[in-house]
Amino acid sequence: MKMGYGKLSQTDIKKLIDVAGEENVFTNKEDLVPYGRDNCPYKWSEKFRFIPDVVITPISTSHVSEILKIANELKIPVTQKGGGTGMSGGCVPKYGGILLDMKKMDKILEVNKDNLYVVVQPGITNLRLIKELEKHGLMGPHEPGSSPSSTIGGALSTSGVNYRQGVMGALIDEILGLEVVLADGEVIRAGRNSAITNLSKNSVGYDLCHLFVGDFGSLGVKTAATLKTIPIPEVEEIHVVTFPDFESTLKAILKIQRAMLPGIFTYTAFDREYMEKASQIYGSEVYGGAVLIGFMGDREVVDYTRKKAEKFWEEYGGQDMGPEEADAEWENRFDVYPRMIATGKPAARWHYEDPTVKMTDLAKALKKYHQIVAKYGFDDWGGEAWIYDQTSTLSAIMYAVDETDEDNWDKYMKCANEIVEAAIKMGGSISNCLGYDKRGVGRHGLSLLKKEYSTPELRTIYEIKKALDPNGILNPGILSLDEMEGV
Ligand SMILES: Cc1cc2nc3c(=O)[nH]c(=O)nc-3n(C[C@H](O)[C@H](O)[C@H](O)COP(=O)(O)OP(=O)(O)OC[C@H]3O[C@@H](n4cnc5c(N)ncnc54)[C@H](O)[C@@H]3O)c2cc1C
Repeated sequence: MKMGYGKLSQTDIKKLIDVAGEENVFTNKEDLVPYGRDNCPYKWSEKFRFIPDVVITPISTSHVSEILKIANELKIPVTQKGGGTGMSGGCVPKYGGILLDMKKMDKILEVNKDNLYVVVQPGITNLRLIKELEKHGLMGPHEPGSSPSSTIGGALSTSGVNYRQGVMGALIDEILGLEVVLADGEVIRAGRNSAITNLSKNSVGYDLCHLFVGDFGSLGVKTAATLKTIPIPEVEEIHVVTFPDFESTLKAILKIQRAMLPGIFTYTAFDREYMEKASQIYGSEVYGGAVLIGFMGDREVVDYTRKKAEKFWEEYGGQDMGPEEADAEWENRFDVYPRMIATGKPAARWHYEDPTVKMTDLAKALKKYHQIVAKYGFDDWGGEAWIYDQTSTLSAIMYAVDETDEDNWDKYMKCANEIVEAAIKMGGSISNCLGYDKRGVGRHGLSLLKKEYSTPELRTIYEIKKALDPNGILNPGILSLDEMEGV
């Protein structure tokens, strides 16, 4: 949707101040510049820094609604920002205009211990929500590696994943309902098959709620979310099990999965290349593969499940590394990035491709990704897989690229594209949680999307966008929606 956008005049800014209050509207250059980027690889793509014309920090749904009414009338682009930890340029205002910084809308509106749900505003960080729910004996719905800074609104808009999805599901499974402000300022409740936002199942129409999950803010502004929660279990037990090779690791996981054992909350698998890098940092032995497997529930359930699982992993040569190793690995589960920095190569920036593939394609996929990274001569940090179920597994490869070498930009673009294309060829998807456009705002255009979606599918996406946002003001540029007209 390439629209002729309007420009904000001083009178328009005054209207916005009247709505949101002077303390929530920023127009000084030094306040605007930091909003020009997110966590995309910007070392090279500095030219993809896009500065908004005004930043607004709304504190209520009615603020958001009134701001959107003004923006829609004047055809001013509006981009939402949570913690800015996204890696697809999602919160970057490609066409300038209004940047809605949602972080002041960070309240917990309701904790329902009986029906096990929580209602929050979108700007709360994932870590704060976890900590607040702990006070009620409940478990937070989402813990990404970025949880101290990322927000629940950003996580819902990117359709995030986290370690505990074996029991809790990915965030898309945990959402019960949303409050969303549409492009024209209308406020709607979007539930699962009706407007009610705290039921997980009913049968009264379209599932509006999930339409907004993973929309990268292109269909509406999320102003509240109702999410499932669960009581903190009596026991949470982590094991690290090593295997002679990655194939045996996956076979053991498949066997355990098929036994339908209760209380397994995580399977995170690592391949030989990952183990080799880890051994360089920690001086540990190199194994062909490993899985971090977690059990939760009461003592009896955990003991039962662990014993059964143990039998299966031993069939494939699995060896439990013991509680100390497991606790350390769990404690440091998000530390792969600092680990890279620990190598003392500050010019190298880590990159993480995260295509989704089926469990049965995982070994083949990671092997292919390693070959591609080797072809381009980048520093391979190994493959890992966040295993959700057989049909949806995050197949990630991490690698470091020397960003002082300008020639690496083109090589990096080709490398990253080849990795995701390899996944698409296997029936996989470009991304599991980080998003489509990891190499800069609108950088790909439609080229990769066309490999995953057919023309009628892209047209359907475009028609939905047009129906909800006819002036194309919401986060224009994201998902290459600005290029879909006439596709
Ligand atoms: C070190 C590191 C570790 C990470 N680990 C994980 C991980 O484990 N799992 C995972 O899923 N991701 C992970 N990520 C990626 C990133 O943290 C997530 O995508 C995160 O959920 C983004 O949240 P945010 O608040 O930072 O969103 P932002 O980056 O601010 O925005 C992301 C998108 O959401 C939109 N948005 C934000 N708020 C709203 C709103 N209220 N309404 C509508 N749209 C909105 C924005 O417009 C943008 O399109 C990681 C990133 C880093 C840097």
